[in-house]
Amino acid sequence: MRKILIVGAGQSGLQLALGLQSQGYEVTLMSNRTADEIRSGRVMSTQCMFHTALQHERDLGINFWESQAPRIEGLGVSVAGPESQRVIDWVGKLDGIAQSVDQRVKMAGWMETFAQRGGQLVIHGAAVSDLDFFSRTYDLVLVSAGKGELVSMFGRDASRSPYDAPQRALAVAYVHGLGPRPEHPDFDAVRCNLIPGVGELFVMPTFTTSGRADILFWEGIPGGPLDAFQGIKDPAEHLSLTLELMEKFTPWEYARATKVELTDAGGTLSGRYAPTVRNPIGRLPGGGLVLGVADVVVANDPITGQGSNSASKCAAAYLSSIVEHGDKPFDEAWMQSAFDRYWDTAQHVTKWTNAMLGVPPEHVLNLIGAAGQLQPVADRFANGFNNPADFENFFFDPALTEAYLAEVAGASGASASE
Ligand SMILES: Cc1cc2nc3c(=O)[nH]c(=O)nc-3n(C[C@H](O)[C@H](O)[C@H](O)COP(=O)(O)OP(=O)(O)OC[C@H]3O[C@@H](n4cnc5c(N)ncnc54)[C@H](O)[C@@H]3O)c2cc1C
Repeated sequence: MRKILIVGAGQSGLQLALGLQSQGYEVTLMSNRTADEIRSGRVMSTQCMFHTALQHERDLGINFWESQAPRIEGLGVSVAGPESQRVIDWVGKLDGIAQSVDQRVKMAGWMETFAQRGGQLVIHGAAVSDLDFFSRTYDLVLVSAGKGELVSMFGRDASRSPYDAPQRALAVAYVHGLGPRPEHPDFDAVRCNLIPGVGELFVMPTFTTSGRADILFWEGIPGGPLDAFQGIKDPAEHLSLTLELMEKFTPWEYARATKVELTDAGGTLSGRYAPTVRNPIGRLPGGGLVLGVADVVVANDPITGQGSNSASKCAAAYLSSIVEHGDKPFDEAWMQSAFDRYWDTAQHVTKWTNAMLGVPPEHVLNLIGAAGQLQPVADRFANGFNNPADFENFFFDPALTEAYLAEVAGASGASASE
């Protein structure tokens, strides 16, 4: 049976490892942390996943937390005006539910399942020199080590990476005790709060190590007032700054957050990174080739909450490419074709995410505003988080946006500019 080494036990590496294992491949998974270390460590993401990505997990039968995790039925957008009041506020309904399962819970659980099913789990932080050796003993080496140091093996693709510096400073806090959004107390939604020129606050329900919780996630434009978390080590201080900024910039979200407390000492995270697309094939000093997976090759800013979704889609695409290839060698041409198949989907995510990092053009502001009057527009925008390719049809080109809004307004008998 074919031998495959996967380096990095995150969303993509574990999903791929479990998928290959179920098809009878001999899989070795290398992780720089044990399951217990992951479970008791720091949060890593907000990991909200939409229908298509969740379905890939269901297809493999590894959706172990689906019945416990909150069912996210909507995605809402609020825009702050100059007096910190809301000038836009709507919620779109998702066709399929979204869910966030704390990666500490999921990755630790999946890692244990992989080992219980007979997988070879090696706890070791792999270096390039290790991979040089292993590329000679495995049929295929996949590097799914996220944004860690191993990315240095994969050259940056400047033509697909418009930014060479971080576009947001990130600050996450997991809390218990957040009240429901009074506008829709009967269902859960991801709430995106946009503060023009300053940044964004995302609020979303999750399932963490201590059960249901909510995440308060600031994305601050570097150098601005939200870029204030660097150097804060004390989780309590991190939370109090999170709340202070909410009171100032998003008082409507602060109103339901006055009783929150951190889920645990590892419930905060801050940092930043430059969105980067890389060449998918890494060339080792000894001549061997390795294929990059998910964040290693396409790392987008989390402003659109797509990285885990893309990791799931990448794992699903690579799984199909590997299985379809049968016993033929995993050579350079195959590696490129496997990545190209993934890029068919990922390119839309990258284009839309990079657009959301910039100053929105007038037609996008009109679109977001119109969604407050026209529910079909709100619903379509929300469902774009599941299928970002759809944004090609109504988001980027002002003429297409205008035509789409006129069509919906005509069908509903309202005017898009009302
Ligand atoms: C603040 C924040 C919020 C986010 N919110 C969302 C969201 O709401 N929705 C969404 O879809 N995405 C979100 N993302 C992005 C998402 O978390 C990532 O894109 C996703 O986890 C990438 O999966 P991956 O498998 O590529 O890598 P990872 O999940 O990063 O896994 C990589 C693994 O490899 C391990 N590793 C690293 N180096 C080595 C080594 N040398 N040897 C062995 N192991 C190694 C790491 O410890 C890690 O376990 C967010 C990210 C951040 C930072």
